[in-house]
Amino acid sequence: MTDQALIQLVDLHKYFGDLEVLKGINETIKEKEVISIIGPSGCGKSTLLRCMNLLETPTQGQVLFEGVNILDKKVDPTLHRRKMGMVFQHFNVFPHLNVMENITLAPILNKIMTKAEAEEKAKGLLDRVGLGDKVYEYPRKLSGGQKQRLAIVRAMAMDPKVLLFDEPTSALDPEMVKGVLEVIKSLAITGMTTVIVTHEMGFAREVSDRVWFMYDGVIAEKGTPDAVFNHTQNPRAIEFLSQVL
Ligand code: ADP
Ligand code: MG
Repeated sequence: MTDQALIQLVDLHKYFGDLEVLKGINETIKEKEVISIIGPSGCGKSTLLRCMNLLETPTQGQVLFEGVNILDKKVDPTLHRRKMGMVFQHFNVFPHLNVMENITLAPILNKIMTKAEAEEKAKGLLDRVGLGDKVYEYPRKLSGGQKQRLAIVRAMAMDPKVLLFDEPTSALDPEMVKGVLEVIKSLAITGMTTVIVTHEMGFAREVSDRVWFMYDGVIAEKGTPDAVFNHTQNPRAIEFLSQVL
């Protein structure tokens, strides 16, 4: 972890109609930091993640990415958003493209790399996640765990500054979970800034620098894994942890 702030959330609020889902979030994510977001269903975890990269537009507040307020009308958000890789629960890889095409499409379209560069990078990443023998396979031939590892490689192919994961293992068969978590962990410990919404408490405890416990639209508790899992005094956190641990 360095002391350089990568993402700053300043008084972030999000409404869906009259429903206030984020009720004032003020947090800083530093370069190389690994943050796990935990909390009960419906408390706003996905919305918070999606507001960070503007998949949802915050109703109020600022999102600073590398010091730039990406909500500023004068700023082109796509330039910054490109540096934030997102991995979803339901993989959403492109079914009509093979593995290599899935990975190289965005870097080539965005003119970040030549086709040859993108393909070389893709092969290196696929080897790293154990998919080196699936380069020209189509997604329908892949298991859920393999599809999710492909989705991670696809995000990595854009050379992101941060990876945002929204419950990346929740839709997987149990035997697939470990392999995907191993990949995320290997990226995290080699310095990829990572924000992950997860129900995998073992992973959150072992891999995170900090844990945020969300409840009803706010970060109700936060700290090191030890502080949050072993020493919280927050009654909501105690109740939640008693149900999931
Ligand atoms: P979590 O990820 O913690 O389960 P979400 O961020 O998905 O929570 O949702 C928080 C609340 O916002 C829920 O009440 C949910 O129904 C509501 N919500 C999320 N997305 C939308 C949307 N696009 N339109 C309306 N309500 C939404
Ligand atoms: Mg969610």
